[in-house]
Order: sequence, then structure tokens, then C-alpha cells
Amino acid sequence: MADILEIKHLFVEYYKRKKVVSALRDVCLNLKQQEILGVVGESGCGKSTLALSILKLILPTEGKITKGEIIFKGYELWEEDYLGDKNIISMGDDSLRKIRGGEIGMIFQDPFTSFNPVFTIGEQIYESLVLHRVGKDLNTYSAIHKEAINSLKRVMIASPQQVMNSYPHQLSGGMLQRAMIAMAISCRPKVLIADEPTTALDVTLQKEILDLLKKLQQELSMSLILITHNLAIVAEICTRIVVIYAGEIIEEAGSEEIFCRPRHPYTIRLLGSLPYLKPEGKRLVVIPGTIPDLIDLPVGCKFYPRCDEASDTCLQKINMKEVNKGHFVRCCRVKEEIDGLY
Ligand code: ADP
Ligand code: MG
Repeated sequence: MADILEIKHLFVEYYKRKKVVSALRDVCLNLKQQEILGVVGESGCGKSTLALSILKLILPTEGKITKGEIIFKGYELWEEDYLGDKNIISMGDDSLRKIRGGEIGMIFQDPFTSFNPVFTIGEQIYESLVLHRVGKDLNTYSAIHKEAINSLKRVMIASPQQVMNSYPHQLSGGMLQRAMIAMAISCRPKVLIADEPTTALDVTLQKEILDLLKKLQQELSMSLILITHNLAIVAEICTRIVVIYAGEIIEEAGSEEIFCRPRHPYTIRLLGSLPYLKPEGKRLVVIPGTIPDLIDLPVGCKFYPRCDEASDTCLQKINMKEVNKGHFVRCCRVKEEIDGLY
């Protein structure tokens, strides 16, 4: 499948009390059509920054994208007329309005803060349908209403009309997250970004929401970026996984490859900390320490202060290298498995 989104050498900074927080550095990432890509990493390592950057939603008062490109290739793939800029970072407001919600949908962690509390769910779904589909394929009030109801049915809400008439505070967390997903898919985006979509929910609801996302991704032929701090979640549904640490991608491979042959010491420890992968009689791995201060980063490998395999060679600049087909690792200790692969 062709790429629908291509992120090239992305750098993002925030500014905190006159200091620079280096939130993302040299992030390169491709998203293929109809794939489910997992983005995994500890809290604070830059996952939400990546999601916000893709829609150019970093608030200028807080930070900015300092370098890089985010190329949206959806228009070419669908052979739609579009003469504007394909790089989201340099798009103007009109193109961005089309992209946000219309071409690339987003689901945030906490549905309670994502909806406006003073409007009903129905009013909020209508609003996004009017913005993105009126003048395209929906032109009457009844068509808009029908589409809103359809979206709620797609997310398995049994009484869509009742949910349409409800205010956000009248719904449970699980129901509200479904409504949030319904709103995101109502405009038929080609890419859906879900930032920790199950973190605020009970464990029993987590699986339902993941199954739902997978079902929708297939029904609507979308590409899905699933962002989470929980590797066990991505194992269930992702085809490819990138592991991010202190603002850098440190490992990238197909899902099975990452789980069966993790190569970066951080990924290996992350997997070792999963209870269900623990061999019987063995203790769960705890990764000592915390991620480094993004205002004052260590030189060389950002994981080396926590890595028990570290040596002096880890103090040099470490680039990503391909260790197996489609498997990339940012670690100087790791050797290519298949020399002369190509
Ligand atoms: P994650 O989603 O992986 O938990 P984030 O992308 O939210 O991580 O944050 C990455 C880093 O950027 C963290 O160190 C966080 O403190 C910092 N950060 C995020 N948002 C802001 C902001 N608005 N102002 C300053 N620093 C921020
Ligand atoms: Mg986050």
C-alpha cells in the first residue's frame, strides 16, 4: 500500500519559563494506507506532541514546529483536485480547516474535555458535518441528520437519537468516547489519530473501544495511528509499531517483529514489564529512573543513563539503522542481523 502521510525530520519545541523543551527531534515516520500504526512510549516522551503536530495544533503561545515536513498524500491517492500545499506545516487556514477533521480525524484521551459541555452531542456532530460535508455530498437537513444517526450506529450506540439529544455530562465515559469516535468518523477521514483512546476508561471498556476502532478502520478503509503508553494495547491491533523515547523514535518494526525480536534495550525492558509476557517464575522488569529532562538532554543516546548495557560509544550521536528488513533501531550496541540484505 502507498503512504498516505509522510513525516520528515520533524523537530518540535515548547518554551517554558524562557527555557526550550526539546519535545520531538528528527522524527521520520510514514503511515501507509489502511494500516494501524502503534506509537508507544512512556508518559512525557512526546506522543501527544506528535499527534498535535500532524494537525498543526501546537499553540503558538506554547511552542512550535521548528523544522521538518508533514506531507499529506491523501488528495493524490484519491485523485481529488487540490492545488494547495501538501505540507501541513506550511498550509494556510483554509486548507487546514479541510484537513482537520475532514481528512485527518482525531480522538483525544479524555472525552469529557473534548466535547463542549453546553451543546448536545447531536449539535456537535452536525457542526462538523456542516463544516466538512455540506456542499460535497450532504445538502439537506434530513441528510445531515441521517448521517449523524448513522455515525452513532456505526459505533454501536443502541439508541442514537437519545444520545444525539444528550449533553456530554449526561453520558457515561464509555458512551461519550463512542460518541467522540462517531463525531471523528462522521466526516469520513482518511486518517484517524487516536491519542490514548482507552486510558481514561475502565479495563472492561478498553477492549470494546479497541475492537470498535479496528472494526471502523476496516469498514471505512482508514489508516489509524494508535497512540498509547501501553504496549499490550498495540499488540492487539497494530500492524506496525514505533517506540518513542524522550522525543526520538528509537525502534520501528512490524508488530510481530517487535514482540518476537525487540532490539533496543528500552523496548526489551518495556516488553519485560508486561505481566502477560512474563515467563513463569520470573519477576517483572522495572526500568529504573525516569526519562531525561527535555530541557537538558544527555549527549548521545538519550536512554543510556538508564541502560545497563551502556558504554562510552553511547555518548556519540546515534542514528537509526536497519537491523532487519523494515526493522529500525537507534542503538549503537545493536548489530545488523542480515548483512548485505539488499
Ligand atoms: P506524552 O503525550 O508522550 O505524554 P507530550 O507530547 O504531552 O508527551 O509531552 C512531551 C514533553 O513536552 C513533556 O516533557 C511535556 O512536559 C512537554 N510539554 C507538553 N506540552 C507542553 C507545553 N504546552 N508547554 C511546555 N511543555 C510541554
Ligand atoms: Mg499524551
